[in-house]
Parts: sequence; structure tokens; C-alpha cells
Amino acid sequence: MKSRWDDAEAADFPGSLGERVYSSRLLGGDPSLVMHGGGNTSVKLRRTDLWQAEEDLLYVKVSGYDLATIDATGFTALRLAHLRALARLDRLSDAAMARELRVAAVDPDRPAPSVEAILHAVLPHRYVDHTHAGAALVLANTPSGEEHVHRAYGDLAIVVPYVRSGFELARLCARLANERLTEATIGLVLLNHGLVSFGETARECYERMIALVARAEDYLAEHGVDEPALAVSDPAGHRPPGRELAQLRGRISAAAGFPVIVRRDNDPLGVSFARRPDLETLSQAGPATPDHAIRTKRVPLLGRDVEGYAAAYRDYFQAYARRHPGPPLTMLDPAPRVVLDTALGLCTVGRAAADAEAAADIYKHTIELILRATELERWQPLPPEEIFAVEYWAAEQAKLKLDRQPPEFAGEVLVVTGAASGIGRACGAEFLARGAAVCGLDVNPGITGAFTGPDFLGVECDVTSADAVAAALESCALRFGGVDMLVLSAGIFPSSRRIGELGLDEWRRTFAVNTDACLLLMRLAAPFLELAPRGGRVVVVASKNVPAPGPGAAAYSASKAAVTQLARVAALEWGGAGIRVNTLHPNAVFDTGIWTDEVIAARAAQYGLTPAEYRTRNVLGVEVTSGDVAALAAAMCGATFAKTTGAQVPVDGGNDRVI
Ligand code: ZN
Repeated sequence: MKSRWDDAEAADFPGSLGERVYSSRLLGGDPSLVMHGGGNTSVKLRRTDLWQAEEDLLYVKVSGYDLATIDATGFTALRLAHLRALARLDRLSDAAMARELRVAAVDPDRPAPSVEAILHAVLPHRYVDHTHAGAALVLANTPSGEEHVHRAYGDLAIVVPYVRSGFELARLCARLANERLTEATIGLVLLNHGLVSFGETARECYERMIALVARAEDYLAEHGVDEPALAVSDPAGHRPPGRELAQLRGRISAAAGFPVIVRRDNDPLGVSFARRPDLETLSQAGPATPDHAIRTKRVPLLGRDVEGYAAAYRDYFQAYARRHPGPPLTMLDPAPRVVLDTALGLCTVGRAAADAEAAADIYKHTIELILRATELERWQPLPPEEIFAVEYWAAEQAKLKLDRQPPEFAGEVLVVTGAASGIGRACGAEFLARGAAVCGLDVNPGITGAFTGPDFLGVECDVTSADAVAAALESCALRFGGVDMLVLSAGIFPSSRRIGELGLDEWRRTFAVNTDACLLLMRLAAPFLELAPRGGRVVVVASKNVPAPGPGAAAYSASKAAVTQLARVAALEWGGAGIRVNTLHPNAVFDTGIWTDEVIAARAAQYGLTPAEYRTRNVLGVEVTSGDVAALAAAMCGATFAKTTGAQVPVDGGNDRVI
């Protein structure tokens, strides 16, 4: 491990707080040091208060901020004297500590500081960094952990036995620092938890952290422990595993009591670990540090016995909840967050795609640590009661915002066609805003970047090709665990042509996209839709041309009428499997790809209207947007339409030829 400090880069972050931001980002940018909001940093500064008196403040990371992207607003200022006085108390409950940290804040409106704020305060140095460096966790998570750590660090660091984060840890660190701090000390090793470094400048503090990590790495190298070797093998086998994953997701969602995203990881590390003969011994001992249990649960599920896992989780809860001090605890859902399966490899679970990704990152890191500890000696993490204490610690649960009402489609998956533009794109945006994971298909290569973030997967796909559609659905299933909702929006609108001039080629091309592709999507998605935790839903975007065809649009009107009939038959055939199929008939939605100015002018001319009159030519006299159509599509997939199938609903401002 090498220092990445760069004076030229650091110059862009002037001042003591600026340098604090810069070196925090250096730490946050290295996943072997911190992951997903972990770790915290601080700087002690003297400031003048409202009465011109000087006071010493601790600027410490706000809880939940990610060090990789932190800026000055990610730190909150607390009165140092108050924090140090707290460390002298004999005990302080979690609730009392949270309150005292608010009392110590210079600005009480700022969000809560890291739970390690008091630890940062009690160390005398100006800068303090705290990470969860993997190499140090490897040493500690072995039967002779403490001995390895002492031998590796000598006088360089004070070794702190494991106690839970917060007040207890701060008080212990204050006492040990008081007793053992020497000129040679550059940090603390928090056993089974991480590292703390300190220094007078941001650079000194950061480079001491790097030195502490390097010391653990050197110790491992001296003991013949290298980077874990990977047995590379074909994870998928011959059968596409998408539907198996969807079946597993159905059972995990049932155990959780809500729909979840399940993601298969394609890193060979997960597959080779899942196939190890000693997998049970290695994987069932526990996590690298108790913090991780919030994302990964204490142990992964091996194989696919979800119900057995849930029963064991209930036993674990009952065994330790009884001994837990304070008011009675409510059990978290008993579903696994990490699955290791010989065929599927490493799969991770989350309420949203980002949670499943975080669990994957953490568990892959854990696998490396387990393998290195096994080479050194044997993987022996903290016992279950310590993991339980953190898993059920109110402050830790608050990090996951468990009390927040999840969005409407949390944990559910939408596939939408024609998603690069127009109604399809609007549907993508609408369902993402309602919490769904969205897989957007489009023949336009721009689809891959149509939306950003972990909830979106864009697949370039010609929906008239059965192979391309099957491959796209498989990618979606491997990324998110299945398909719950299907919005069929891809369509073409050929230029106006009377039947006398309508060629068979144009007729067939229109049907290929507007009708045949819908059959392919529906047929190939059905095996996934029937596994949807809340029942599958299909929305067909047809047209007002179905009930009210127009001259010059024979191919379009006929293709949309055909797909409407297809949807009605699907509603009949799939009702027994709990799949709802509804059709919406938009009209005059002009913010879409097919409505060029040329097409609008041609259509308007058919009726002897100006383009402006044509746009709002409906009973309500309003313009209908693709967003209006997307909102109806989402409603059709939601609770309002829970008991509706086979319906056709217009979204057209009212059409006097149909009402
Ligand atoms: Zn920590």
C-alpha cells in the first residue's frame, strides 16, 4: 500500500478543513480501506464564537457521508471540551449520547455526527483518521489474532480490544491512549474493527494510516499469505440461470415479506469460493466486522434452502434478543442478503439494487479476508452475540433508514421497450422515481446511457429478434433477479399512406415492431412474470387508432388493433397465474420520436386543421404528454389497478369519436 498524496492536487483544497476534505477522499477512494459510507475522519480547529471568545471545535464526519465524495458540508462542528467531558462519564446510553452530541453541536440544525465523534475528540492530535482496513481485519480475525497484531505492530500502535462503537469504545481508547501513548505511536488497532491514525497535519495522519495498513500487509507477506488465488471456472454452466435466480428471488421475497432485488455477481472470486469443499466452515463463522452484518446479515445462505435459513435466523434472534438490555427488540426480516450457490455463484439481495450491490462489494471483500486469514491460520471472527449487538443497535439500524416508508415499487423490476425516447423513456423515468429497478430496451445504442445509477440497466436490443429479446431478459434477470412488470412501448408510425399505395413491405415492417415484437416479449417474459412476488403486470401501449382509426394509417391502426387483441387474450390466459394485462390508448402525444413535425403536419392536413389545432384537438382541449402516459402505465402496475385486467383505458384528453 502506497501513499497517494499529491501536493499539486492538495493545493486545490486550501485550509485545514480543505486538507481534511482532500485526505478523506483519498481514504474513501480505496475500497480496501473503507466501503459504502464506512470510516470517519476529523480535524480539531480553533474558531471565534459570537462573543469573540476562542473555542476549540472538532470537525467530524456527518454520519452516513461517503468519504470518497465528501466536501466541507460533510463535516459538522462540535465543542471539543463537551465531548472530552463526556468521555469521563462512567456510562452513557445510546440515546443519551445521541442527545449529548446534539448539545455539543455548534449548529444544532446540522445532521448527526459519526457515532465515533467522542473517540476523535479524546485523541490529542489535530487530525484523526479511522478506516476498516482489510489487512488489519485479517490479522485479528484468527484464533491468535491479538498475538499477530502485537507482533505486527510492536510500539507503532496501541492495540484496543473489541468493544462496540460509540461511547464504550471512546472511553476505552481515551484510557489506553492516556496510559500508553508514546512518541513512537502513530495509531490504534481496534481489534475486529479497524484502524485509527493520528497526526498534526492531514498528510501526516493519512500517511500514517497507509503505514499502518502496509505493516499488516507486510506481516501477511512475511507469513506467506498472498492475494487469494482464484480457480477460474465457467459459472453459468450450460443453462441460462436467469429463471433459477428468479425462482430463488421469489422465495427470498416471501421470507422477507416484501419484494427484493437479487443480483448475481459475475466475479470469478464468488464462484470459486461457492464451490470450495470447506465452504461451510469458512462462510458460517461470521463477518469480518460486526458493521457488515447490517448489509450482509451475519452469515450467507448456502444453496437455496431459504426457508431453513429464515428459521435459523429466527432462532438466532430469539437466542440473543432475550439477553439484550433495554426495550424489547423487533426482529428484522429473516431473509438472507448473501447467497453462495454452486451453480449460481455469489448472489446478493437488497431492497434496492444499490443495497444488493453494496452487499456484493462487502462480501467479495470478506471472501478475500477469509481466504487470507485461512492461509495465515484460521478464520475466526467475533462470536454471534457481538454481531447481534451491532446488527440490532438502534444507531446502526437508523443508518439504513428502516423507519422510512419504502417507495411504491421498491424491490420490483420493470422491463420497458422503446426506452431511449418518447413514451418508453418517460415510463423509465416514472418507474425509477417510484423505486423500481428498470431494464430499458431499445434498438438505439444510446439506451445504455439513458439513465444512470444502479437501478437502471440499458440493453441495446432489436425487439423483433427472439434471440435478442431472450438475451436482454436474461441480462435483466441476472442483474435484478427477474421481471415483474413489462411495458410494451416500442412502436413505429409509418408516414401517411392510403390503402391504394400501401405496400406489403411497409405493412409487414409495421406489424413486426408494433405487434410481433409484443408477442415475443410477452411469451419470453411470461416465465419471469409468473414468479413476480406481487404478481406480474403487463401494460401494452396501443393507440386511440384502435377504437377510432384514421384514414392514411391502415398499417398502424391494424397493428395496434392486433396487439390490443393479443393483450386481451393474454389477460384471459394468464389471469390464473396472477398476471394482469392492461392496454392504454394514448392519442396525440407529440413529445415522442414518431411525431416529427412532418408527420404532425400530414396528419393535421388529413383533417383540414393547423398543427396547433391538431395538438389539442380533444374534449378537454389539453395537450397529452408522454409523462401523462407513463403515469397511467405506472398506475396500471400499482395498487389502484390491482383488480383490473384486460382493460383498455384511453389517455387522450377525451375523444368525441369514441366517448
Ligand atoms: Zn468503524
